Amino acid sequence: MSVKKVMVIGAGQMGSGIAQVCAQAGYQVVLNDLKTEFVERGLGVISKNLTRLVEKGRMTAEQKQDVLDRIRPSTDLNDASAVDLVIEAAVENMEIKTKLFAQLDKIAPENTILASNTSSLPITEIAAATNRPEKVIGMHFMNPVPVMKLVEIIRGLATADEVYQTIEEMTKTIGKVPVEVNDSPGFVSNRILLPMINEAIYALYEGVATKEAIDDVMKLGMNHPMGPLTLADFIGLDTCLYIMETLHEGFGDDKYRPCPLLRKYVKAGWLGRKSGRGFYTYE
Ligand code: NAD
Repeated sequence: MSVKKVMVIGAGQMGSGIAQVCAQAGYQVVLNDLKTEFVERGLGVISKNLTRLVEKGRMTAEQKQDVLDRIRPSTDLNDASAVDLVIEAAVENMEIKTKLFAQLDKIAPENTILASNTSSLPITEIAAATNRPEKVIGMHFMNPVPVMKLVEIIRGLATADEVYQTIEEMTKTIGKVPVEVNDSPGFVSNRILLPMINEAIYALYEGVATKEAIDDVMKLGMNHPMGPLTLADFIGLDTCLYIMETLHEGFGDDKYRPCPLLRKYVKAGWLGRKSGRGFYTYE
């Protein structure tokens, strides 16, 4: 199995980053979203990231253009008919993901691998929406994708060894470090990270300290590069809530119940950096 053409579904924070690193590594990329303006927004972010690399002397203007030329915008899922790998990075919602995978299964060639960048949803359940569960796998990139080295590679119950090896190899080709993880709610990264963030939100909710104080304690006391509330804004509060709900439902354990303040913020449309307001406000 070899990967030459990649389709990325969802041109948001994660999808645009994934498309960028794939195109930088020389892959032909199709970047898909629901509307042209969403794809353009993603391409705008990629272009800005690449300009920064040119300014730092880490890439020439010509190389930047070559990378951009390798990314083809798309709003048509049928473009999956000509790719070797699909990486889905749409919203963290099982209904949306299973619907997408069922459609992709019908469109993509028999040998095409279908990967999901889900933060927490069971790969086995996503795979069950297709007739090729052996070719479905989790590729969990970290945010921001161009900077962070780790990709958790998640095997579903039926994922074939050959598919795992192809994806492990491809992950190295794009300059990332693959770490193998079994299919379990939140995998390893978010099973550990999100309960910590949720607990920080509880500390704020219960008036234990201000948001700045909570972030300072974790930054200065635990040497975290950013505080948990700043990190939650960065991840997106809607994504944080989806992940907590997945952990709560997946383990059936109330220790994972999402903080009511997190629910309230998401209901208010305060989604963090991407909406301009979360625990903090952004320009
Ligand atoms: P986002 O809200 O920035 O982007 C999601 C994009 O998907 C939007 O542009 C939306 O229009 C598009 N979309 C929704 N439904 C679609 C469909 N049916 N077809 C095509 N496009 C569709 O979200 P994000 O932060 O990029 O998260 C995307 C995925 O990556 C989620 O599964 C999330 O859990 C996962 N993830 C997020 C982070 C993070 O830190 N934000 C980290 C790792 C993984």
